[in-house]
Amino acid sequence: MKINFLGTCAGTEPMERRRYSSFVMETGDKLYWFDAGEGCSRTAHLMGIDLLNIHSIFISHSHLDHIGGLPGLLWQVTKLSMIQVRELNHGKIKLFLPDLGKLEAIREILQSNMKDYEPYGIKLEILPEEVTDRVLLDDGTVKVTAYHNHHLKKEENEPWRSFSYKVEAEGKILVYSGDVKSYSDLDDALSEGCNALIIETGHFKVDEVYEYCKSKNVDKVLFSHCGKEILEHYEASAQKLKDTFGDNAIICEDRMVIEI
Ligand SMILES: [Zn+2]
Repeated sequence: MKINFLGTCAGTEPMERRRYSSFVMETGDKLYWFDAGEGCSRTAHLMGIDLLNIHSIFISHSHLDHIGGLPGLLWQVTKLSMIQVRELNHGKIKLFLPDLGKLEAIREILQSNMKDYEPYGIKLEILPEEVTDRVLLDDGTVKVTAYHNHHLKKEENEPWRSFSYKVEAEGKILVYSGDVKSYSDLDDALSEGCNALIIETGHFKVDEVYEYCKSKNVDKVLFSHCGKEILEHYEASAQKLKDTFGDNAIICEDRMVIEI
């Protein structure tokens, strides 16, 4: 599977050359989108990714550094469909959101734009589903399982609103942390180990990332959602990473493409 990093910055102030969190996993001709920080669809299009191959979108939680680009992504897909006179290659977009209530706000943002397209027979067709702890998708190509984490607080009778994802495709396992409260939130998703772990480094000291990953059966550690500690001490972080993991860990950059 191919992982295209569209945004690798934590939700701090804007940083040079980095947008907020998003990556798209490609297998065959299908695109599986994970989080949608602002501008993610623009970056993907400019990387040469065919947005009309989108199959599904998985949002980890509703903070703006993860969802701020979702209206733009849905709009870009629709716009490209009209400009290129092509339909989506895999039918309606499956949209997995931890809080379906947010969809109404997104629809409202999109509504005025969509009115311009409807005379051309272009509709925004999505199949929304709320994320809970379960297998969200198993389409014979890709299996995606959601695991709640404690990044967002909740009362006892409220549903979980923040998730990490395990993605299985091509005989490989990829785990995406989303944002977590502590790395032990990932223990269940990592119970079988994984070929690659995309781990957020925005809320933790660099040493904590190393210590946790060393204790797990992870082939490749991909640092993303990079926080100020890593970005402001980039050389020292990169050196420490190399000393600890050799070539098996990478501080990801926007527009980086990694095959696992
Ligand atoms: Zn975040």
